[in-house]
Amino acid sequence: NDASFDVPTRPEDFDWTDHFPEFLQEWRERQQQQQPEAAAAPASGDAADGSSTAAPASTSAPSSSSSPSEQPLVRFVDIGCGFGGLLVKLSTIYPDTLMLGMEIRDKVSEYVRERIAALRREQPGSYRNASVMRTNAMKYLPNYFHKGQLTKMFFLFPDPHFKAANHRRRIINTHLLTEYAHLLAPGGWLYTISDVPELGEWMRSKLESHPLFERVSEEELAADPAAGLLALSSEEGQKVARNGGATFRNVYRRLAAPRQL
Ligand code: SAM
Repeated sequence: NDASFDVPTRPEDFDWTDHFPEFLQEWRERQQQQQPEAAAAPASGDAADGSSTAAPASTSAPSSSSSPSEQPLVRFVDIGCGFGGLLVKLSTIYPDTLMLGMEIRDKVSEYVRERIAALRREQPGSYRNASVMRTNAMKYLPNYFHKGQLTKMFFLFPDPHFKAANHRRRIINTHLLTEYAHLLAPGGWLYTISDVPELGEWMRSKLESHPLFERVSEEELAADPAAGLLALSSEEGQKVARNGGATFRNVYRRLAAPRQL
């Protein structure tokens, strides 16, 4: 149950080192090689140069190129990642991007954790950018991610919750889409796929009627490596394919500003 989750109050309170130890260590070492003085010296504030410009600090030029760059952040999330098939595929296609599977079932998330650990051992240098977390993604995403941090969110074969009384439990709904839009960077993509026609149509209609999303064209999808993975990379997708089932894919882009409906 949720009580056993140790949830950070704010994203900046969460330490990602345990999820991506080698990836972050290598990044820190690179930073030190490139900017030994920046790593050693305390961060300096804006120089008080006595100039008479009236510009407020927030509009002044960005700090000099010697300041250390920001620590890498998680950019892709696989919501309800199940056994982790998508993550494992994405990890080698986007080796420089941090990605996280989020899964509410304890045993399933533990399986994915061990799967990734085994892959890291077997193929040193690979899979360092992928990890998994046990959490309720319908409740806690803003505790882990900043506004505009994510560039891709995946929802593969989410639970259908067929009964009308349970539709509010669907992980794509208007309220949660507003939260996902908040966490996605403008231009970021939200990927959905289902083998349940009614749920596919539900997700399409919720996205279509949300002012902060627009449909990604088939041409763009054809050129996107991740879009091609939706139907067949995850364990649920493979099961559907074995049974010869049809799938319904809906991928939408987060707009920079609300569109007219
Ligand atoms: N995406 C995987 C795939 O395609 O193989 C799994 C699909 S499975 C039908 C749906 C998954 O979502 C289950 O593993 C379930 O435990 C997980 N899930 C459901 N509600 C969730 C929530 N609120 N937060 C995180 N995971 C959730």
